Amino acid sequence: VKLNGDHLKLAIQKDGRLTEDTRNLLRTVGLQFDAYKQRLFSNCRNFPMDILFVRDDDIPEYVAEGVVDLGIVGRNLMVEAEKNVQELMPLNYGQCTLMVAVPADSGISDVKQLAGCKVATSYPNSTQRFFAERDIPVNVIPISGSVEITPALGVAAAIVDLVSTGSSLKLNDLVAIDTVLESQSIIIANPNSLSNTHKSSIIERLLTRFRGVLSAAEYKYVMMNVPSHELDYVSNLMPGLKSPTVLPTADPEWMAVHTAIREDVFWEAIEELKRRGAQGILVSSIEKMFV
Ligand code: ATP
Ligand code: MG
Repeated sequence: VKLNGDHLKLAIQKDGRLTEDTRNLLRTVGLQFDAYKQRLFSNCRNFPMDILFVRDDDIPEYVAEGVVDLGIVGRNLMVEAEKNVQELMPLNYGQCTLMVAVPADSGISDVKQLAGCKVATSYPNSTQRFFAERDIPVNVIPISGSVEITPALGVAAAIVDLVSTGSSLKLNDLVAIDTVLESQSIIIANPNSLSNTHKSSIIERLLTRFRGVLSAAEYKYVMMNVPSHELDYVSNLMPGLKSPTVLPTADPEWMAVHTAIREDVFWEAIEELKRRGAQGILVSSIEKMFV
């Protein structure tokens, strides 16, 4: 395997929380590549792109330096790195929040109460900026791992750490009191790659594919039979793409309706449809969607 100079280069996490979802996304948009454990990089067989497998901390740096054109990484790391890279698109997985947390029994409920305190974190730049913007003087203690045990060890009064379910905070008798950053997996680009015509056209092709998969995930495809006299009401109710497709059935009292419904309003819409007499409701997921 060899890196190809004409190919776009994309860095993704080699082995961690984002790895599986990232590989799945790339495969869902039709890219064929090998990815076994020892591999450092891989050529796509059917797209002009090479994939590098690296530690996620290195991705913003590699993108900023032009070692790669693109990277997929948590926004938390992009913001912390303070490098010249551009966020192109959120990818809707790897959701987590960078939060300020304190011991549950500390009596602290507002970050202002942390003035003069030590704050341990693996995100010193983001933490520094958060407190500076609020004019709260704190002493930021950079820690590389297991930040959540530092209050119990007496190292710090508070921490700034990533939270997804909150179970790790609970386990360590900590409570979150403020949010530094909402994060998820994002795709980032080197600004020079974006202004290069050849590269930017390949990047645009890739983004179009990502959009197709991400919008599809937001919608369900619904088919149902609706009493003819309820059709107008049902058509207005359906927050679908455009007006739904309506087809006659063998029975003039009933019409068949096909449409896409947003996942977030899906259950309410189905309940209302049933109240209006809709029957034979079939729901399927949409693999790809281009509007
Ligand atoms: P690497 O070995 O590549 O450096 P890592 O151990 O630094 O990996 P992971 O724990 O795999 O990093 O997390 C990768 C990303 O997953 C984080 O930067 C963050 O964006 C996201 N993430 C989602 N939920 C969480 C969570 N609960 N804790 C930490 N990271 C999370
Ligand atoms: Mg890391």
